[in-house]
Amino acid sequence: MANQEDIFKDIISHSKEYGFIFQSSEIYDGLSAVYDYGQMGAELKKNLREYWWKAMVQMHENIVGIDAAIFMHPTTWKASGHVDAFNDPLIDNKDSKKRYRADVLIEDHLAKIEAKIQKEVDKAKERFADKFEEAQFRATNARVLENQAKIDAINKRFKDALESNNLTEVRQIIVDCEIVCPISGSKNWTDVRQFNLMFSTAMGSVSEDANIIYLRPETAQGIFVNFLNVQKSGRMKIPFGIAQTGKAFRNEIVARQFIFRMREFEQMEMQFFVRPGTEMEWYNYWKETRMKWHQSLGFGEANYRFHDHLKLAHYANAACDIEFGFPFGFKELEGIHSRTDFDLKAHEQHSGKKLQYFDPELNQNYVPYVVETSVGLDRLFLAVLSKAYTEEKLEDGTSRVVLNIPAFLAPIKVAILPLLKRDGLPEKAREIINTLKFDHACAYDEKDAIGKRYRRQDAIGTPFCITVDHQSLEDNTVTIRYRDTMQQERVSIDALPQLIDDKVSFKKALRSLA
Ligand code: ATP
Repeated sequence: MANQEDIFKDIISHSKEYGFIFQSSEIYDGLSAVYDYGQMGAELKKNLREYWWKAMVQMHENIVGIDAAIFMHPTTWKASGHVDAFNDPLIDNKDSKKRYRADVLIEDHLAKIEAKIQKEVDKAKERFADKFEEAQFRATNARVLENQAKIDAINKRFKDALESNNLTEVRQIIVDCEIVCPISGSKNWTDVRQFNLMFSTAMGSVSEDANIIYLRPETAQGIFVNFLNVQKSGRMKIPFGIAQTGKAFRNEIVARQFIFRMREFEQMEMQFFVRPGTEMEWYNYWKETRMKWHQSLGFGEANYRFHDHLKLAHYANAACDIEFGFPFGFKELEGIHSRTDFDLKAHEQHSGKKLQYFDPELNQNYVPYVVETSVGLDRLFLAVLSKAYTEEKLEDGTSRVVLNIPAFLAPIKVAILPLLKRDGLPEKAREIINTLKFDHACAYDEKDAIGKRYRRQDAIGTPFCITVDHQSLEDNTVTIRYRDTMQQERVSIDALPQLIDDKVSFKKALRSLA
């Protein structure tokens, strides 16, 4: 069995080999933590975005979508707190000269202790088989309790240190936990310092009187500053939501793990405006709704879990992450935050404009409260890719790599393969493409033996291969081969549009959310 690290390496090289993801500017040796999506990656990414958009906007009468600019008035970032308060605590290892986020070092340390607990649980599960009661075991086993107490103590110390902005204490936690630099293996740490992660550039032609502006570090602010525009022009009634997808930029210091942490990435965010006092109800509603959406992709419930935030950001009164079991462990995939009226109030103060809603039922004006759902499209892409990637041993002793991407998200839905390059088979194949291409992304491939062509399609996750042979010319039938089962059946060409439609439309997945 290959270990998770090797599998992750395989996934990265597979992504490159089959046109999903390339290192940015690779011919110049790349740009660190920046990636380009290739021909297959762009399709998968687009489909994931579309599934999110349909689930959030199309399926909700009271949610609308916008597309705000990346550049915003610089005061936006004063109001949001990004200029002054949004800093990451950083620490350097003096031996390796590598820089780390202090919170990430501590989180990784906690994950290691958690792994020890899990190991005890797994061992006991094996020993007691059917009689195993996990909850009871966790509540009583001495080693589990001891490790859990360690986790709780570190968590509490860390939370207190962050809340009082005590960076010396953050460093001391790293020292006391005996955390070593993964590169040098040493504990030779510098002090912890704060670092602002926004990229800035200059707007205007003469640099001296040009304005410094920032590349947005989150898409949310484009929604807040347009709150009243959308509410008025769309005659929206509270509760209602505004959704948007788009690029965000963060000068991440510890950019690693492929597309998990990038400097340029895409977010899919929705801000839901509610009556003050009802925010916890909506926070819980969106927690459940978003979890259901992730699970609708069919990778198994065990791969997802909630993680409540210990330290709330200055704008939040409740916050959690949906974490996903990536090949390198459970990590944040989506954040759900109850942001109170912090953002709208801050924009009122900085702009001098009222950002309020008149509630006809209460006959009262107020600044709405906000519940936010925020998922990284690239992280979602990585989640799908890492669970879809499968190395299979087949009965005949050969093996194949297949991407079990849910059919409706697959980059190419159907490949049409003439068995031979002659006898009118290519022409017949093109005829079929010409009926299917209006609805679906199709591929045509006539090179190499048919088995090899099937493997190529498996490797990019194409759910259906259609083979055109001599019989097709006689009775208008083809062989359809299914990616996951590799089963084949003979079907009429006329039946193809319906057959494929049923399996690749977003409808079934969207219905499962209702
Ligand atoms: P992290 O703690 O991992 O830095 P965050 O809590 O700062 O993430 P949010 O500000 O809540 O992240 O952003 C919402 C979502 O945007 C995250 O759940 C994640 O999916 C995505 N995201 C954030 N930073 C990055 C990044 N550098 N690269 C890719 N995706 C990101």
